[in-house]
Amino acid sequence: MEEKEKKNKNNNEKQKNYQNFIIIAIVVLAAMLAINMMLDRVRDSRRQEISYDTFIKWLDEDKIDQVLITSDMLEITLASEAESSLPITYYTGIAEDADTLGKRLDDSGVSFKRQVVQSSSMLYTVLLYYILPSVFMIGMVFLLMRSVKGGGVMGVGKSTAKMYMQKDTGVTFRDVAGQEESKESLREIVDFLHTPAKYTRIGAKLPKGALLVGPPGTGKTLLARAVAGEANVPFYSLSGSDFVEMFVGVGASRVRDLFRKAQETAPCIIFIDELDAIGKSRDSRYGGNDEREQTLNQLLSEMDGFDSSKGIIVLAATNRPEILDKAILRPGRFDRRIIVEKPDLKGRVDILKVHARHVNMDETVDFDEIAKATSGAVGSDLANIINEAALLAVKNGRSAVNQSDLFESVEVVIAGKAKKDRILSAKERKIVSYHEVGHALVAALQKNTEPVQKITIVPRTMGSLGYVMQVPEEEKYLMSKVEMEEELATMLGGRAAEALVFDSVTTGASNDIERATQIARAMVTQYGMTDTFGLMSLETVEERYLSGRAVLNCGEETAAKIDKEVMAILKTAYDRAFSLLSENRECLDKIAAFLIERETITGKEFMEIFENVRDADKAGPSVEAE
Ligand code: ADP
Ligand code: MG
Ligand code: ZN
Repeated sequence: MEEKEKKNKNNNEKQKNYQNFIIIAIVVLAAMLAINMMLDRVRDSRRQEISYDTFIKWLDEDKIDQVLITSDMLEITLASEAESSLPITYYTGIAEDADTLGKRLDDSGVSFKRQVVQSSSMLYTVLLYYILPSVFMIGMVFLLMRSVKGGGVMGVGKSTAKMYMQKDTGVTFRDVAGQEESKESLREIVDFLHTPAKYTRIGAKLPKGALLVGPPGTGKTLLARAVAGEANVPFYSLSGSDFVEMFVGVGASRVRDLFRKAQETAPCIIFIDELDAIGKSRDSRYGGNDEREQTLNQLLSEMDGFDSSKGIIVLAATNRPEILDKAILRPGRFDRRIIVEKPDLKGRVDILKVHARHVNMDETVDFDEIAKATSGAVGSDLANIINEAALLAVKNGRSAVNQSDLFESVEVVIAGKAKKDRILSAKERKIVSYHEVGHALVAALQKNTEPVQKITIVPRTMGSLGYVMQVPEEEKYLMSKVEMEEELATMLGGRAAEALVFDSVTTGASNDIERATQIARAMVTQYGMTDTFGLMSLETVEERYLSGRAVLNCGEETAAKIDKEVMAILKTAYDRAFSLLSENRECLDKIAAFLIERETITGKEFMEIFENVRDADKAGPSVEAE
């Protein structure tokens, strides 16, 4: 095994040297050509054509110092310029036969000579004007191709440069937190790689491939590596895009190569990341491509061809399962589908713990809290949060990460870094402050909303000027209509506060409006929450694991009705937010003033003011009545 790796490396080095040599050669040739061209230019500028008449006239006037007779012209140097270092050469065609010309020159006493055509200079000319430019052109084209496609022409048919073989991935299931169901299905594959005989003895056909499906960052690549680590077998990994080359047939030969190599080292795992790059459906809906189809066909036939009892498993990962070709998914190929979902609360806690293993944490750290604040985050986000927190701790000169570092980094990952140098004017601060408190207050005034964790008006690099962080008390999988309506009111609370207090509105609510509209639309078209349409499905969701874009599937008339319905829902929500805020104007003013002063306030501080004002309100009228 090691031998082989070394050999690979050597090969790579050789190839690299060879490439370097070619590049240098091309540069040198290009430089030579350029210099030659420059010299030609200079020479040309010192040459001038004259008529034969003028030549005769000069001859008669004794102006000429020297004449060079070449095969088809006369090159003339004037006496007046003979001494200068760069004399102008005049030239003219030959208009009389050699004998009379010779005589004429003899008579006038001008020194002249005939030039013999030298074969070496012919060679030089051919080399300079024909071969060099073509070599240069070939070189350019070659370089261009190389830069277009990493592998390039020389790599045709050989995938040595791209294939990535690891003897030991160093990752095990312990490194993958949560994802218990996925791990369960994969454990079987591990067992099979360990002892294939156990299965073949009974006569069971072994699975050939499994497809990991899920949103980006949920740990699909990590899981595949963990399988190899657990089974302690070599791991061949290639990304789908590596197969798709500029030349038709290259991808197919890579696939062939990959399977051949893998068979030599079985048992092993072949992992094809981002399978959708080659596995796209061959129908024309998503755009056809000869090269990709050939590669796909090759992959299919290789998967049918290899003998699974030897212990080769093909794993693949994708986040767009819906565009895969049906042929890929049929039994005997990637017949197992392992869904890798976004982690739930417990999963998030576990992932945080896995990544915190090698980071110093002090006793204030509570992963439950962080996990609650990050609903919807995937594994890579959480890994990132831990790392950001560690960086923050270092920046603040501490030797361990504490809870506030973690919360700060949650914000960094979700909203971007605090933008310290952006200074809002006093007026803008006031508006932003009222806007954010508007959100928070509407949330607090309703029953089914998530508690406010923090309000801030520190601008963030990702564009927000401030925000309200709400953290649910527990993980929720279902949302009721009432909850959605209250959430809409909360989202529009920012704008409502601006309108109420300043009697004018700003651009600050654009993101709120976008999100609110999305929710309202989904209520109408996907969740059947309106009387008008009842339970009719009007939108389907495409690319569930990526953007989750919704596509309308109804007539134009219905679409217009949907828009009206959405508008009505949004209007109701806004009116509700507006009236809640105007009923609690005192509270709004007090909290906004406090926020302007502090820039960031915690949920607790917020609730204290909120409850104080409320108690005072309750007491207020009765005092007056006395
Ligand atoms: P995917 O291939 O699904 O897009 P990756 O496997 O590349 O995601 O995950 C990216 C990174 O996120 C991993 O290297 C790991 O650090 C972290 N990560 C993701 N999911 C998990 C998990 N379940 N447990 C631990 N770490 C995870
Ligand atoms: Mg991946
Ligand atoms: Zn807002």
